[in-house]
Amino acid sequence: MKKILYSLILISALGLQTKVDARPYDTAKVEQILAQAHALYKDDKNGANADYIPALAEVDSELFAIALVTTDGKIFTQGDIDTRFSIQSISKVFTLALAMEQKGAEAIRDKIGVNATGLPFNSVAAIELNEARSVNPLVNAGAMATVSLINGDTGEQKWQAISAWYAQFATAKLGVLEDIYRSESGSNGHNLAIAELLKSYGRFYGDVDINLDIYTRQCSVGVTTKDLALMASVLANGGTHPISGAHLMSADNVQRVLAVMTTAGLYETSGEWAYTVGLPAKSGVGGGIIAIMPGKFAIAAFSPRLDGAGNSVRAQKAIDYIADKAKANIFAHLD
Ligand code: GLN
Repeated sequence: MKKILYSLILISALGLQTKVDARPYDTAKVEQILAQAHALYKDDKNGANADYIPALAEVDSELFAIALVTTDGKIFTQGDIDTRFSIQSISKVFTLALAMEQKGAEAIRDKIGVNATGLPFNSVAAIELNEARSVNPLVNAGAMATVSLINGDTGEQKWQAISAWYAQFATAKLGVLEDIYRSESGSNGHNLAIAELLKSYGRFYGDVDINLDIYTRQCSVGVTTKDLALMASVLANGGTHPISGAHLMSADNVQRVLAVMTTAGLYETSGEWAYTVGLPAKSGVGGGIIAIMPGKFAIAAFSPRLDGAGNSVRAQKAIDYIADKAKANIFAHLD
């Protein structure tokens, strides 16, 4: 009985109201869970900043922030919430969303692919090993090809469309972090090679240099952890922004984006993440991660030190903790 009561308190704390429990959020409880997650992992020094993009190595490794946005528009934050950092691969989710809205879910499956590669995010082997040259939109190869699918006659038009799209998700205009953009542009040989390889197989849909530059710019977009949680909240809310009310994506497309996040959002450790946490998520080498509990809330966490796959150590732990306390897991039996 005690156990049931405890679960009910936790469930109501994060808005996971069941049919019998339609109480409003316990705001203090949600704040407490976020504070606990922050306190528990703020001294974890495991992992290291990404350094293959030189400017990322310069970011203060101790930064740590968490934000949660509920589908009824409540925002909770904790830690270094005003710090801007580069969105990196989390951008892939939102450009995928735009490409899917423009071209349809079938085009994404046929022209890019939607299977996990099981290999690192910048793997060339993933392209070579798969005869159809099918990857997915959440690894570098597929993400760059996804950028090449975005409508626009010029690179500038495409970029305007992507940045306006991101702004609608964040409910604010987001700028590019110029130091990150310059640093990444100056050390981009590997991504260039991947794009050229895809192009040689007829799996890249525009000019390589122009689309690689847009991809690099989108990865260098500066966000706060709160911006990220606001962006992710659209995916938790079936495509409608919980704060602005803007209808940005069809519910069908949201469902498909969440599916790709589940299988490939944390690269080669996506399986372990699904197994232990059970929430569609996406990481970036800037140290951010977003995670979605459909219909309920989105979490974003940020801290620069990464594990071997390129996923923030503290962000993973914080999200795992919060999801556990909220009993949020898309694979859980609902009774
Ligand atoms: N901009 C980075 C790259 O292309 C993004 C990688 C990531 O966040 N995993 O390598």
